[in-house]
Amino acid sequence: MKILVINAGSSSIKYQLLDAKDGCALASGIVERIGDDMGSLTHKGFIGSANEYKEKMECPFPTHREGMHEVVKLLVDPEKGVIKDHSEISGIGHRIVHGGERFYAPVEIDEDVLQGIRDVIPLAPLHNPGHVIGIEVAMELFPGVRQVAVFDTSFHQTMEPKAYQFGVPYELYEEFGIRRYGFHGTSHKFVAREAAKYLGKPMEECNLVTVHLGNGASLCAIKNGKCYDTSMGLTPLGGIIMGTRCGDIDPAIIGFICDKKGMSVSEVEHMLTHDSGLKGICGSNDLRDIHTRIEEGDERAVLALEMATHRVRQFIGSYFFELGRVDAVIFTAGIGENDPEYRAKTCADLENFGIVMDKDKNWNWDRTPSAISADESPVKVLVIATNEELEIANDTVAVLGL
Ligand code: AMP
Repeated sequence: MKILVINAGSSSIKYQLLDAKDGCALASGIVERIGDDMGSLTHKGFIGSANEYKEKMECPFPTHREGMHEVVKLLVDPEKGVIKDHSEISGIGHRIVHGGERFYAPVEIDEDVLQGIRDVIPLAPLHNPGHVIGIEVAMELFPGVRQVAVFDTSFHQTMEPKAYQFGVPYELYEEFGIRRYGFHGTSHKFVAREAAKYLGKPMEECNLVTVHLGNGASLCAIKNGKCYDTSMGLTPLGGIIMGTRCGDIDPAIIGFICDKKGMSVSEVEHMLTHDSGLKGICGSNDLRDIHTRIEEGDERAVLALEMATHRVRQFIGSYFFELGRVDAVIFTAGIGENDPEYRAKTCADLENFGIVMDKDKNWNWDRTPSAISADESPVKVLVIATNEELEIANDTVAVLGL
């Protein structure tokens, strides 16, 4: 059973065609710079087989429609397509960044759901418009194929008001929905379920702290299998220090910068989103570069890593208090899966809190869901590779009852 997963951004479309039975990707790719004078499409087909190929084409894609059209052509190409025609696709799952308060679970898309996603645009002006176009184009190009929306926010909808309300006038929540929503929910849910399997416990009995560390990064406190708290807020700018995003800062800083530098609020927001975080501290947002620079004696790079891991420890510590009992801390995503030093610094000297690391396991993680803590560690530390596309495909199968 083949499921197409689409992640349509404002000027890009990422896609993956998966076999939902074994979770293997058959084809994947990305259309970039939609609307620019020149765009590109990078496509991989027959992934994991002897016929695997990769190709890149450069041409303008005036709108998402032309981009998606080209993707369909590649998927059904008589020679190098992985399917004969679109009737082989059993369902389409769309990644939607923001579902507001309405969507607390994946849902089949109809006109009412599409309108619901449009209604949340004020909360996610950079993301939801692209998702809406992606859905509209997919409906046009795959007539009769049922489609499902899977929200980054929905896993976090189990938070209680004490966790999701901000200390601002309550009317702002009532009038505009200003509250903590949280993101990366699909990833947090995926690795939490994998962790439960590893621990041999039902998910509903697991208390976990999931640590998603990619270019965007967030933590989630999971109590009895459900989200209890998370680090991102109204938007994906809040929480820990990220590649280019500042995370939580004193809110007074924004007015102060506007005043001192004569910048508008949106200019400051742009700076906090694109030129802050690790990049703002040391000029680089990629941990691989940061480690190289640390080896070369760059003090700013040292500071950037110290600050980032310090902040993650603060969140893990607060979640230990919130949860009371923790079965496991789980690292995932680009940094979480690939950076043993980041993990070691984050988990150093926590034996009194039940975390005992195994240096050898941490530095030689074998890419399977497994522990990097010592066998005797009361709280397990796991590394689990995330797979948001597979989670979206599984949700699509479940919602459509396939
Ligand atoms: P993601 O958003 O999950 O794709 O993560 C991307 C980030 O992962 C990059 O910006 C890097 O900081 C980090 N990353 C990827 N590979 C490595 C690696 N081998 N070592 C350290 N960090 C890595």
